Amino acid sequence: MKSQLYQLSATELSQLLQSKKTSSEEVTRSFIENTERLEGKLHSFISYDPEYTLSQARASDQRRREGKVRGPLDGIPVSIKDIISEKDQPLTCGSRFMKDYRSPYDATVIEKLKAQGAVLWGRLNLDEFAMGSSTEHSAFQITHNPWDLASVPGGSSGGCGAAIAAQQTPFALGSDTGGSIRQPAAFCGICGLKPTYGRVSRYGLTAFASSLDQIGPMAKCVEDTALLFQAIAGYDESDSTSLSEEIPHYTQALQASPSPKRIGIPKEYFPQGMDTEVREAVESAIAFYQKQGHEIVEVTLPHTEYAIAVYYIVATAEASSNLARFDGIRYTHRSPHSNAIDVYFRSRSEGFGEEVKRRIMLGTYVLSSGYYEAQYIRAQKVRTLIRQDFLKAFETVDVLLTPTSPTTAFKIGAKIEDPLAMYLNDIYTVSANLAGIPGISIPCGFSKKNLPIGLQVLGQFFQEAELLQLAYVFESSHDFHVRSAPLS
Ligand code: GLN
Repeated sequence: MKSQLYQLSATELSQLLQSKKTSSEEVTRSFIENTERLEGKLHSFISYDPEYTLSQARASDQRRREGKVRGPLDGIPVSIKDIISEKDQPLTCGSRFMKDYRSPYDATVIEKLKAQGAVLWGRLNLDEFAMGSSTEHSAFQITHNPWDLASVPGGSSGGCGAAIAAQQTPFALGSDTGGSIRQPAAFCGICGLKPTYGRVSRYGLTAFASSLDQIGPMAKCVEDTALLFQAIAGYDESDSTSLSEEIPHYTQALQASPSPKRIGIPKEYFPQGMDTEVREAVESAIAFYQKQGHEIVEVTLPHTEYAIAVYYIVATAEASSNLARFDGIRYTHRSPHSNAIDVYFRSRSEGFGEEVKRRIMLGTYVLSSGYYEAQYIRAQKVRTLIRQDFLKAFETVDVLLTPTSPTTAFKIGAKIEDPLAMYLNDIYTVSANLAGIPGISIPCGFSKKNLPIGLQVLGQFFQEAELLQLAYVFESSHDFHVRSAPLS
């Protein structure tokens, strides 16, 4: 029984607001109160400001009274991964370097949300500069998984995953460079969409690896995911890599049932020895789609085995370049020394955490003379092969079904000392970023320990509507997304 406003989906809340059965202020208070009740155990948020948020809610209520509602998002709280700029609000990127920084401007996605009347609610925890798969690399706190407080929520958008699963917020914007939306969605039993590269503006997203980064929605259910995605998708002249493809009506698309599809099952994503609970859950999802009249076809993506290596060359190379601007002069943390070299050197040593330093070193190494051709250029060539694998598969199938992550949420501390084990966790997610294609993760089962299992649907460029439709069909005939986490 849902008796509290915070238990409702954004879509349900939007309907209640429209029929004037509640106010944005009441809705927002409900999330604030639930957050405060749980935050001591979860640590999903890096910062929040109830007064700032409530003043937006009251402004929304005022608009509604005056008949000036700006659309379905008006009055609904949305939380933001703390790596997306929101004017005058803290922007830490999970880093000591940025501890006291405030954004001087709005990211394009934030501008869009404000223009549609959304109520910005809190800044969510992440691995430092989005580098990680567990949120343990945040400089400030470890976020706990509401399904099991001893486990990680995934990463790097782990604060988003935990906050949504625990009903501290109805939905959130995350970012995905190699799986950071989809993997925490899988670990927390929620829905997360990584859009096609170029679909959503990256203006105002602190760059980690610019050729891979995308902002995307994370939510309790597919409908809310579509609603939030609709609000942020589209061309932006401030991001030269954003594309001006037509934007379909995503929420409406859900009402139509998907035409019969050819669904590819890439055999490399189901290796021998894979986690049996993950395999069983994903296989029963495949059986479901087959029963619905879709055709299931085995396909091959032969360069999958190189994906992790390629990703960790390309991503670290771009990160080392993007993070070069953190010099202790222009941005926040500055180590007080009298000569410039010491300021640079000490500021970076003190400002960055261990994982970020590791990536900067790896990236600098693969870009250095003598290694550049052997490592970086070669990785770019293999990246092209990985992309061609997908293009070839999409000649015969419409979408691909895979697990989102090889395992369910792992214990806090289990992989933190072993970077390679942590990186291998991204095996099913990084290829979509390398190729630029969209991917969605939805819950498709639970392990015996009651931890969520994620199903990933990958599609062709700009086919997010198709992914949302297929995800919605599955969600509508299962109850995985409505089960609530023990701590919620
Ligand atoms: N886990 C991957 C990494 O650490 C992906 C991170 C992300 O998508 N931001 O690089």
